[in-house]
Amino acid sequence: MVPRERIELSRSQASRDFESRASTSSAIWASSIRPNLLDLNSKDSRGIETLQYFTEEIGSNKIRVRLSQMISEDSEVALQNLSALLTEAQEIFFDFKGVQGINSLGIRAWVVFIRKLKDKKTYYEECPPVIINQINMISNFRGSSEILSFYTNYVCSCQKNKSLLILKESLKNAEGKYDVPQAPQCPCGKETMETEEIEDEYLAFLNP
Ligand SMILES: [Zn+2]
Repeated sequence: MVPRERIELSRSQASRDFESRASTSSAIWASSIRPNLLDLNSKDSRGIETLQYFTEEIGSNKIRVRLSQMISEDSEVALQNLSALLTEAQEIFFDFKGVQGINSLGIRAWVVFIRKLKDKKTYYEECPPVIINQINMISNFRGSSEILSFYTNYVCSCQKNKSLLILKESLKNAEGKYDVPQAPQCPCGKETMETEEIEDEYLAFLNP
């Protein structure tokens, strides 16, 4: 197997960021963060921990929810508990950066969850490919949520790869549609990188 180098944003860097931001939010929500932490030892059959979330109040009736690990059938209870925490919120920002996987029962659990929030303003931030793929394939996955930012993985024939966080708003053109993001130049100097996924399919959510 070819070692895959993350030039700009390594996965471990991403999780370090997540941890450091999570500890900030626990300081802000010192009294309520602890019960929200799920059993850290719970693992699903693939060895990935089941869904975890951290909530952070970022304004009046405005909450950011950082999600991580795996969304599966085991997430139903977690999502019910999370729902209960969000009853007062009017704007909710879901940060998917730490999500490593989702299975079909997890998709169903998420769709049920997000449907219950349809009267609130909801946003999806830092969506990794595993989430963007669901958004593209399953119309109910986003509900009425607005996508603010997402990751695109790029690869080069020299085997280098790169993950870029793209703000959707930065792609808006004069017609009010969204352009395809510019692929980065590979440091090998040989060529422009290509998206790891089929570009048209991956970016379909931009102009539904
Ligand atoms: Zn290259």
